[in-house]
Amino acid sequence: MNIHKSLDTFDKLAQIADATEFEPAGDQPQDERRASKPGKEREQYQSRSLAECITHVATPKGAMPMLKTMITTACERNCFYCPFRAGRGKTKRVTFTPDQLATAAAEMTRAGSVRGMFLSSGIIKGSVTTQDKIIDTAEILRRRHRYDGFLHLKIMPGVEKDQLLRTMQLADRISVNLEAPTQERLEALAPKKEFTRELLDMLMLAAQIRRENPRMKLAGSVTQFVVGAVGDTDVELLSLSAQLYRQANLKRVYYSPFHPVSGTPLEGVAATDPLREHRLYQASFLLRDYAWEVEDLPFLGAGDLRLDIDPKRAWAEAHLVNAPIDLMTADRTQLMRIPGVGPVAATAILKARRERRLTDLTQLTALMRSAAQAAPYILLDGRRPEQQLRLF
Ligand code: SF4
Repeated sequence: MNIHKSLDTFDKLAQIADATEFEPAGDQPQDERRASKPGKEREQYQSRSLAECITHVATPKGAMPMLKTMITTACERNCFYCPFRAGRGKTKRVTFTPDQLATAAAEMTRAGSVRGMFLSSGIIKGSVTTQDKIIDTAEILRRRHRYDGFLHLKIMPGVEKDQLLRTMQLADRISVNLEAPTQERLEALAPKKEFTRELLDMLMLAAQIRRENPRMKLAGSVTQFVVGAVGDTDVELLSLSAQLYRQANLKRVYYSPFHPVSGTPLEGVAATDPLREHRLYQASFLLRDYAWEVEDLPFLGAGDLRLDIDPKRAWAEAHLVNAPIDLMTADRTQLMRIPGVGPVAATAILKARRERRLTDLTQLTALMRSAAQAAPYILLDGRRPEQQLRLF
């Protein structure tokens, strides 16, 4: 294994600049993959390649430039899709000490180049040892360097409860990546990972830790699936997502489209259409934010969503064209069934109709972004507003 320990930390960071390109850290994962790199840090370090490990990431604290990197790109596991899998000769292996990484992140923060850090790792000497290195990095950053920026830390498979708690205390967000929706699918993707004990139980344990420590400031949890490499269906992915939103209080589920990496067992498998990723996110937000059940989602026979239409509009075409929703009487959940009406617009409609009758589309344009999108599925003043559409 080719591990460079003598290089300068910044050189090493630059060497593995795109290592976490397919590990989302924020709220706009598609943008992270195609994010343009900021110019400021290029000048700062006079190194174009160091800028490549800084990504603009959308977080609950606002958009921010973030250092996304790994403790080590060496790994003793052999996930079939991963460029860092054991035995893949082409991969450059780079390893940092916690002190090196924390000091580099602190320096980049002080220079104004980054305001957040996403830290992942390959697994060396087991998950527990590797998680300790992630925790040590975060401890040094938070305590010695007084770092108070955004911190997103990975949880290694099957770590101990006290490690999970400490990571949750140090981070703003933690990831436990399930990778697949079932044990069977996971075996086809990552044969050395245990679906329930090492991954699913970690997410449940994080939720339990939050319940046990209601006054403690603890990181929120997210997970990621690698979509489309091993026959996983949308209904499998979204059913587990719904369960996790309910039971593990997940902030976010990421659906990362599979892309083949040469020199891995899945190199011959076709890349997943990014449109599938987009439809999965649309459906996932319906489950998380719109009070939808998995059973409401319009799956095709094989268990996937249609690619040509967003799932909410597909549902509306099937259910609302002949039974439009009356905006003056519908409850909040019903309002959010209407294409173009989200939680914010539903609140605005409920407030507006307490003050006046909603009788035409011009009133709606002040309450939501696209009244025309909603028009085929609603009643205004007891009538279909379609004839008013020519006004738009
Ligand atoms: S454990 Fe992580 S780094 Fe190691 S092979 Fe699997 S996905 Fe890659």
